[in-house]
Amino acid sequence: MQTRLEEILEKGQEKVPYGKTADYIPELGRRDPNHLGICVFTKDGKKYQAGDSQIRFTIQSISKVINLAAALEQRGFDYVFSKVGMEPSGEAFNSLVELDLTSSYPFNPMINSGAIAIASFLQPIMDFEEMLDFSRRLCMDPEITLDEAVCRSEMSHASRNRAIAYLLESKGIIENDVEKSLQLYIKLCSLSVTAESLANLGLILACGGINPVTGERLLKEDVVRVIKTIMFTCGMYDGSGTSAVYVGLPAKSGVGGGILSLADKKMGIGIYGPSLDQKGNSIAGQEMLRLLSKELKLHLFA
Ligand code: GLN
Repeated sequence: MQTRLEEILEKGQEKVPYGKTADYIPELGRRDPNHLGICVFTKDGKKYQAGDSQIRFTIQSISKVINLAAALEQRGFDYVFSKVGMEPSGEAFNSLVELDLTSSYPFNPMINSGAIAIASFLQPIMDFEEMLDFSRRLCMDPEITLDEAVCRSEMSHASRNRAIAYLLESKGIIENDVEKSLQLYIKLCSLSVTAESLANLGLILACGGINPVTGERLLKEDVVRVIKTIMFTCGMYDGSGTSAVYVGLPAKSGVGGGILSLADKKMGIGIYGPSLDQKGNSIAGQEMLRLLSKELKLHLFA
């Protein structure tokens, strides 16, 4: 497995020059586009890593998985899906179009409008410190902290997300303080993780919510089933269909360059590569995930 990961990393590196870092959040634009790392954590407790798997980067949209997990645990399925849909949007992650014209509520929890709506009803029941603690436990990573520089950078360039949040308020989806909801959403996007933390989270999801190392149950089984399904259909934004065909695994990406993935009942996978394609997905990360899935025959319909 170790040799295989190193070979996959080398092949992934060839794709790096075809992408670029996210510069709409200036602090992310300053990251080294050549960073690339992968970590695989298997159910029998073995961990394999190659490349920059220990470099910290911000979780960005992958926090939408944690956001959804907290919402389903705290408020339950019916409440969550009375506020947010479960359909792929086919639009960019920060689009307002479909929200305004075709739907009275966000398409799904994996795009910005859905996650901001969720943050708005989480915010009165779970504050940032509680969400930080929840994230640390799910990622088995006590070192996760708020990256203040990225958070400040996004806060001062949040016009689009602010527009989404006020549109949600105008439609009656956000009933709480809009600015506080936005702030919680952006802080959660600014948590610093590693490819290893994502592999840890992936393994917990692969194991139905149980930490296989300690035997502790962190999430309910039916909550995890919903999360994995929505990751599969919506986790790579408007690239989700392509990812389903080529990779065939639940996956969630973030513009920080991370990808969280898993092979059900087998392993968690974490990837870091901040050079992104036009849809905001790690360009080399997707290639590495495709190769890993192909070589280990992990595709859901292999
Ligand atoms: N914080 C980012 C934003 O709201 C997250 C987007 C992403 O990772 N796709 O724009």
